[in-house]
Amino acid sequence: MTTSSQPDTSQNASAQKDERYKARQQKVKAEIDARVDAAQEEKGLFLIITGNGKGKSTSGFGTIARAVGHGQTCGVGQFIKGTWDCGERALLEQHGVHFAVMATGFTWETQNKAADTQAAQETWAECKKMLADARYDVVLLDELTYMVTYGYVELDEVVEAITQRPASQSVIVTGRGAHRTLIELADTVSEVRNVKHAFESGVKARKGIDW
Ligand code: ATP
Ligand code: MG
Repeated sequence: MTTSSQPDTSQNASAQKDERYKARQQKVKAEIDARVDAAQEEKGLFLIITGNGKGKSTSGFGTIARAVGHGQTCGVGQFIKGTWDCGERALLEQHGVHFAVMATGFTWETQNKAADTQAAQETWAECKKMLADARYDVVLLDELTYMVTYGYVELDEVVEAITQRPASQSVIVTGRGAHRTLIELADTVSEVRNVKHAFESGVKARKGIDW
């Protein structure tokens, strides 16, 4: 026997589900609003995109494109593969982004440590100027992690330049195996994990996707 004045029809069950959904969403919104209100600090950020999966440099360049879209002044230091025909460079230079590119186009095949060190140092010197210049809103240091790992650029110098940069400037470092000191120093660190990559099944690197 049904005692309720509202029989439990499927319409009624659906209304209850909608109510529960609404209540859950209201709770989520209240929590997010509270966190947004709590985050009051305004400062330039230090971000690191590291890990073995594909998407680190494209993420860094995506952030530069985002900042350029807001009319901000941006710079890019490119360590490794500097002489490659880089799609992002072709586009972003047209939008006033300054590029400091490593002269040798260092790859894993290079055997000349002295020449590589000199090339890295020259690019790093240009990057340091950008990191000291308050006109730059965002500076991307693409593949800088390797320069630190291989000792082409001193970790202490990188830490100093990043900590001393203008307060409103953001800096993004990309590359695998970011040094733990840099990770500790950063405000935001993302690790891109490799699930699979086309190259592992023999597919060639592709223009527009890989560079
Ligand atoms: P992208 O520039 O595409 O964002 P990335 O910066 O994350 O890649 P890097 O380690 O800088 O990756 O390597 C750059 C090149 O190596 C790209 O052509 C990319 O597709 C390729 N690559 C990245 N990750 C892998 C992987 N796990 N296996 C094989 N090739 C990879
Ligand atoms: Mg990269």
